[in-house]
Amino acid sequence: MSAKLIKGTEIREEILEEITKEVAEIKEKHGVVPGLVTILVGESPASISYVTLKIKTAHRVGFNEIQDSQSEDISEADLLALIDKYNNDDSINGILVQLPLPKHINEKKVLNAIDPDKDVDGFHPVNVGRLMIGGDEVKFPPCTPFGIQEMIIRAGVETSGAEVVVVGRSNIVGKPIANMMVQKGPGANSTVTIVHTRTKDLAAHCKRADILIVAAGVPDLVKPEWIKPGACVIDVGVNRVGEKISEKTGKKIAILKGDVDFDAAKEIAGYITPVPGGVGPMTITMLMLNTLKSLKFKLGLM
Ligand code: NAP
Repeated sequence: MSAKLIKGTEIREEILEEITKEVAEIKEKHGVVPGLVTILVGESPASISYVTLKIKTAHRVGFNEIQDSQSEDISEADLLALIDKYNNDDSINGILVQLPLPKHINEKKVLNAIDPDKDVDGFHPVNVGRLMIGGDEVKFPPCTPFGIQEMIIRAGVETSGAEVVVVGRSNIVGKPIANMMVQKGPGANSTVTIVHTRTKDLAAHCKRADILIVAAGVPDLVKPEWIKPGACVIDVGVNRVGEKISEKTGKKIAILKGDVDFDAAKEIAGYITPVPGGVGPMTITMLMLNTLKSLKFKLGLM
């Protein structure tokens, strides 16, 4: 069997088109567009490239986007004051602080200072709690798990009653996606198991999975014989395993590998996400959707 590829690059385009259309409609009816601010502290090239991509995507879908760059030596108090300014700015619906922050700043304190109703990353304890309660309480699911669930839904994979096994228990992927899949509602209603480094027989759990979600950060951790024939395999892992010269730009780029042995797994699974081009493109896409949702909550449209 050759699995159906679930391509994040294609789903991203669909969702960004939908967002662009909705933003234009809201602008026409209500005279406002979503406002997204990204706060960047310092000049780390990786952070700059993430922020640039977020701002570019926000611009593409018609948001009012602000990139607020601060110097490396900004004090914690000044950064907190900046967040307070955006918390109180009616034109801003989403506030992002690009991590990591310099060592003299307490990241947790800064992230917890963001108004939970503008926390479009979904990391504030209030939003984590809302996600746990589920249903109407949920405002902003964290973007990577939100993207994973959307991919499963759009691929037409049945989740109700499905055995879902999640490899990994991080706060940004494993725990939230497990929590989302166990809720009552569309794209969920699953029976969920979370496995991690202390799990006794990883292979046995994976073999039961109708939907296997792998977020461990270990290249080729999941072997083809661990996959149930026909299962849906979502590979969240992004592992740099070397470098190569890009045919497009002639520059050095990283060779990326997922947590699943893709070439062998695709012959057994029913659905599979590639790396790169699978889950990766979904994270910023869902950030845009959360920012649009934030404005819709404010306007009473949700
Ligand atoms: P993390 O915080 O390092 O957590 C990894 C989890 O996997 C931990 O719970 C760990 O178990 C478990 N694990 C590691 N090795 C294992 C093994 N051999 N057997 C069983 N469990 C194992 O990682 P993360 O932030 O969740 O990210 C996971 C992967 O997803 C990374 O490759 C990351 O780059 C990628 N990622 C991609 C996106 C995206 O595409 N947009 C977003 C986020 C993350 P313990 O808790 O027992 O240590």
